Amino acid sequence: MFSTAFLDLPALQGASGTVTLPGSKSISNRVLLLSALCQGTTVVHDLLDSDDTRVMLAALRQLGCGVEVAGTTVTITGLGGRAWPAEAIEFFMGNAGTAMRPLTAALAVQGGDFTLKGVPRMHERPIGDLVNALRELGCAIDYLGNAGYPPLRVRQPTLRLDKPIPVRGDVSSQFLTALLMALPLAAQDRAITIEVVGELISKPYIEITLNLLARYGIAVERQGWERFVIPAGSRYQSPGTIHVEADASSASYFIALGAIAAGDPSKGAQGNGIRIQGVGADSIQGDIRFMDAAAQMGAKITSGPNWLEIQRGAWPLKGITLDCNHIPDAAMTLAVMALYADGPTTLRNIASWRVKETDRIAAMATESRKLGATVEEGPDWITIHPLPAGQWQRASIHTYDDHRVAMCFSLAAFNADQVPVRIEDPKCVAKTFPDYFEALFSVAHTSAQNIPVICIDGPTASGKGTLASRVAAALGYHYLDSGALYRVTAHAALQAGLTLEAADEAKIADLARRLPVRFEGEQVLLDNVDVTDAIRSEQGGMNASKVSVLPAVREALVDLQHSFQRLPGLLADGRDMGTVIFPNAPLKVFLTASAAQRAERRHKQLISKGFSANIDSLRADLEARDARDMSRSVSPLQPAQDALQLDNSSLSIDASVAQVLDWWQGKSR
Ligand code: C5P
Repeated sequence: MFSTAFLDLPALQGASGTVTLPGSKSISNRVLLLSALCQGTTVVHDLLDSDDTRVMLAALRQLGCGVEVAGTTVTITGLGGRAWPAEAIEFFMGNAGTAMRPLTAALAVQGGDFTLKGVPRMHERPIGDLVNALRELGCAIDYLGNAGYPPLRVRQPTLRLDKPIPVRGDVSSQFLTALLMALPLAAQDRAITIEVVGELISKPYIEITLNLLARYGIAVERQGWERFVIPAGSRYQSPGTIHVEADASSASYFIALGAIAAGDPSKGAQGNGIRIQGVGADSIQGDIRFMDAAAQMGAKITSGPNWLEIQRGAWPLKGITLDCNHIPDAAMTLAVMALYADGPTTLRNIASWRVKETDRIAAMATESRKLGATVEEGPDWITIHPLPAGQWQRASIHTYDDHRVAMCFSLAAFNADQVPVRIEDPKCVAKTFPDYFEALFSVAHTSAQNIPVICIDGPTASGKGTLASRVAAALGYHYLDSGALYRVTAHAALQAGLTLEAADEAKIADLARRLPVRFEGEQVLLDNVDVTDAIRSEQGGMNASKVSVLPAVREALVDLQHSFQRLPGLLADGRDMGTVIFPNAPLKVFLTASAAQRAERRHKQLISKGFSANIDSLRADLEARDARDMSRSVSPLQPAQDALQLDNSSLSIDASVAQVLDWWQGKSR
């Protein structure tokens, strides 16, 4: 997951390959609650790991459910047939609507002393229609803040179930879902009827609810979309094991990707199109119908059991006018596809966008305009005009703590003008798809010149490693510690019984070319053995310096170093990053500090790691190492002509990081 302040997406040129999608949010939280209401144990496979499900799992634990998490498999031991807690409980629901609504209903029908709160935005999301319906049947619910909104307090109900329970269907279908899931708790000795008031929106989500209730032994009778009857004697029964389908709304970004992005001709048949694993055209989720809208705009789509394949068809895409009531969430993705169309696209009947994580009509309009698009909006519609080549603008996309805004606008990176796109607060995708950007980067491609590299070269102990990894962390970029590659090469050579001299040059180069090295956080693994401490010693540095003068060894490590240049970008530190390995890097920093300062830093560093060290001999050693690095015939240590010099002798790390980020901002403007 990218938890940086922003993520700069380089201009992307194409996409191909397979993505495996995480479990659906809507299905995950319904399955968790139903499993909790059952008697006995349910093993839930492929559960989505996200903010919403974590909120739900935490609440279920508070209620006394058994919850065992093993990766994406969660085992729930339900509350059915057991006593519910009598003590007061306060639940924190974050901004998780799919947890808040059904849990409120279940708690209110069951009764107790419960408080439900969330983040400030949750306290702005209406819940009055659900509360009214629950009060109608005798539930005791108080508003602790503004009437009609969380936070709420729930007490012991006096249930009146003899007449039909009215619920509004035209604000959020989650209210009806919540009632449908909770009321079987009270249907032991009588049938319960729910009556929908107003036109029911998002019917497909109700279908998911009915489908899943059936899996849990509750056969709701549906009379049109107006009346729903829960039969007398209904009892939740665990299905034992259940698999969560991948999220069809998440699939929409990759369906759109397949429609927008050109394939990769260099990969032959494999380079053509996107395959989505985890959900197919026969999904029980309404948002799967997004594929019809995408096809109307030009996507070529085929499907089989649990998979979809998408290729670019019509290009540019075709502008459409569509009633989106049946695909409220996925329809946002159409708004971005519309930028690549041949004429305007109008999405109608989307009033529910205004009361989601943010006002999504306003958000899509504002952010599309930043890219240069012309957009018109009304209370329940939006029209987006295509953005032709030559008119795309570099933009920083505000994401409003709304996962879908972030994911939608990532698709703007395929623009014809090859301008990069900044996504602010990229971690907001965690709500439904924590690894969305990783998944995007795993299939997207672009030319090497589009993938930024920032080089930080300099002498030993100048603080390159700390600076480079801090800047990498701030930008969400990969990090190459090229010195470690020389250190590991020397280590491997010694292990193989070689000397570090020219006599063994060819053999060392051979080892270097096939170096089984892996970086895991701070750890360096050689052939799966942790060699971090061994290579980080002063001796390790001296040994590295010896093998690094051998031209064949340097040459052997070039491809490995280039392979670190991956999306979204790279921070590379070493001696020749800017001069030899990445000569076209847009930002090169040459970092220096006085020898005295460097010896002192290295001393501190070694002592803190438990190595013994003497400051004078350290200084002598590093001066000797600098001398060798600067005087060798191949790739001597020297600043690239276009490098910016940074002497950090008297700068704090924070100040150095800020300086490099500031230079980077200047370059990427
Ligand atoms: O940066 P570090 O101290 O880990 O580097 C160890 C040695 O590896 C350096 O002293 C230098 O001789 C060599 N090196 C190199 N080129 C690089 C990185 C390191 O020659 N790009």
